[in-house]
Amino acid sequence: MATTKIANWQYLSDYEQERQDVLEIVDRVFSSGRLMLGPEVENFEKHFAAFCGADHGVGVNSCTDALFLALKALGLGQGDEVLTVANTAVPTVAAIRAAGCRPVFVDVDADTFLMNPSKVEQLITSRIRCLLPVHLCGHPADMAPLQKIASDRGIPILEDCAQATGATYNGQKVGAIGTMGAFSFYPTKILGGFGDGGMVITSDDACAASLRRLRFYGMQDGYYAREEGYNSRLDEVQAALLDYRLQRVDEAVRRRREIARIYDQGLAGVGDLRLPVVREGCSHQYYLYTIRTNQRDRLQEFLGGQSIEARINYPVPIHLMDGYRFLGYQAGSLPVTEQLAGEILSLPMFPALGHGEALRVIDAIRAFFQR
Ligand SMILES: *Cc1c(COP(=O)(O)O)cnc(C)c1O
Repeated sequence: MATTKIANWQYLSDYEQERQDVLEIVDRVFSSGRLMLGPEVENFEKHFAAFCGADHGVGVNSCTDALFLALKALGLGQGDEVLTVANTAVPTVAAIRAAGCRPVFVDVDADTFLMNPSKVEQLITSRIRCLLPVHLCGHPADMAPLQKIASDRGIPILEDCAQATGATYNGQKVGAIGTMGAFSFYPTKILGGFGDGGMVITSDDACAASLRRLRFYGMQDGYYAREEGYNSRLDEVQAALLDYRLQRVDEAVRRRREIARIYDQGLAGVGDLRLPVVREGCSHQYYLYTIRTNQRDRLQEFLGGQSIEARINYPVPIHLMDGYRFLGYQAGSLPVTEQLAGEILSLPMFPALGHGEALRVIDAIRAFFQR
């Protein structure tokens, strides 16, 4: 009997449900006569900022741009250093470099895979001008100790929220905890669109005003550059579609959490598996459901043989990639990060994943460890 493939992520079953609404929204926007930076973008910026609990939202082309422009809005550039992690998506670091800054990597917590605040203090120098924690997998980084360090030193926090839209830390939504938060609306993300998109949220009026200029050639009133700017816009049609999906995002996350509970129950105590943790005071959005095992590569291959796609996010920490060798980090410099890269595996996780499919993933993993 042929088994159907279980993808790591797919959107087609969601699209089947939404298709009529989506096509109506596309037609409404295309018929409006306005395609860029118009009322749909303004509307979505307001709604998304309110959803996160921030005063302002500035729509941009991607989260990479959101991070880059946020660093620019903070006035950072050549000679400034930004403290972040090496087990993140490449764009976190690419954005720091695009802004002319140098990334300084701090090792992570072995259970959450997130920036380890106890290792931050020893890396702080006068050149560090920003803390950039990444809320990887959908779980918030440990913000309270980071806020303490940042306020003691008078430096801002920029949160990479690309994987964690809506996650809460002590009741506050991520992105609204630091000075600014950067979000991705790339299709796979918690709130995904039908193409690229991103946003910076902030409650700092000056940062918001600066971001609005920076995303639009440095212009403010009319065709006149107040400062050197860039081009990073959000389309009207993406904004309208994202606004539609924003109204459904809590339901989508509820579904992700249900799948996580099924995995939690079915995989507890199996082999040497370590399952995702949720820290006290935190909520987990389960962008990824990432497990750890010493037999990662063989498990991944075994699942592949059962038509189950499990991915590695991420197989090589950034400080060990050829593109970032010039930073001068050696193997062994971030021991926890490097060990995790050899042990982590992300199971299929998306709202439309069926109960039966999740059980099939569990059965396959149990079979692997019973061989
Ligand atoms: C996806 C992602 C980004 C980049 O988002 P884009 O919208 O694709 O530019 C940045 N950081 C993290 C952690 C991500 O997962």
